[in-house]
Amino acid sequence: MKCALITGITGQDGAYLAKLLIEKGYKVYGTTRSESRSNLQGLEYLEIREQVQLVSLDLTHYQEVEALLKNIKFDEIYNLAAQSSVGRSFAEPDETMSFNVQSVLNLLEAVRTVRPSARFFQASSSEMYGRTESLPIIETMPLNPLSPYAASKAAAHMLVNSYRNMYHLYAVAGILFNHESHLRSQGFFVKKVIHDSLLIKYGKKETLQVGNIEVRRDFGYGPKYVEAMWRMLQAEKPDDYMICSGRSILLKDIILYTFRLLDIPESKLIVEPAFYRPTDIEDIYGDNTRTKEELGWEYEETFYDILERLIREEEEQMKEQKLIP
Ligand code: NAP
Repeated sequence: MKCALITGITGQDGAYLAKLLIEKGYKVYGTTRSESRSNLQGLEYLEIREQVQLVSLDLTHYQEVEALLKNIKFDEIYNLAAQSSVGRSFAEPDETMSFNVQSVLNLLEAVRTVRPSARFFQASSSEMYGRTESLPIIETMPLNPLSPYAASKAAAHMLVNSYRNMYHLYAVAGILFNHESHLRSQGFFVKKVIHDSLLIKYGKKETLQVGNIEVRRDFGYGPKYVEAMWRMLQAEKPDDYMICSGRSILLKDIILYTFRLLDIPESKLIVEPAFYRPTDIEDIYGDNTRTKEELGWEYEETFYDILERLIREEEEQMKEQKLIP
């Protein structure tokens, strides 16, 4: 039986990846900073809480990371833990940079020292590329981070590349573009649009307030993206890949589509300049050709299909939680 470690297992991707690996017959361990109940909601929602072994761990403490890797013979390590919000990184650059880089360095050092045969996946981000001269983005384009989050992910990305080249580890980075699911944390754009729109539809909220919605992003479906992560660790040779849909969509169109589906008038949309970020990228989308051709990953969904699915799922859950009638 293969044994996998998922850091950040309580997050959106961690929970879906755990479910996938369990279905594939893995023994799954996952790290969390604290085992509070609210934290375990994703695992409970996917009904896998009892099937994963949780480990409380501070990834910024090298000794703790090394001890874990000494004690358990992991075949695969998926590093998903991170301060993952671009917006929050402007308010907390210090925590974002120190956690997102130190944790990766500790894991790579521990792999090199005590478990060099383990395969290592790092969740890198499309944000690392910033504003590019051309689109679509491909793996080899220069990095040009425009937020503390992007800078932290770029530093971690380079560490993974260095460790692969210096020590010949099987260490790879999946360059993830925005991806959504029912388990997306509150506050992220798509989750907020769906949640607030449902409150408006049922008369529990007046308006939807958003920042800059005249930008385009490459949005995809989380449960499909974790499958690409797994495929990256099954490949013959270690390499980095883009995990993206290959298309971008205007943020405003996501709102208008949701409003149309829920019968909400456009007058309920308020654009709030106070929510604008210090820097924003106008358009971004990636090229997933290599990921499909070399890893056999399939991704054909449009974001409008995903939106409809997410709205239905959120509505069901909000009714169950009695947030709406
Ligand atoms: P998420 O839902 O925010 O989960 C991240 C997990 O990291 C949290 O559950 C948290 O678990 C853990 N964590 C550890 N230290 C943290 C800290 N200092 N601050 C906040 N959380 C911390 O993220 P996700 O959407 O699953 O994304 C997984 C990975 O992919 C992340 O590395 C993210 O940066 C990257 N990524 C995601 C996207 C996307 O669209 N979702 C796009 C590009 C890249 P505990 O609280 O249990 O420790």
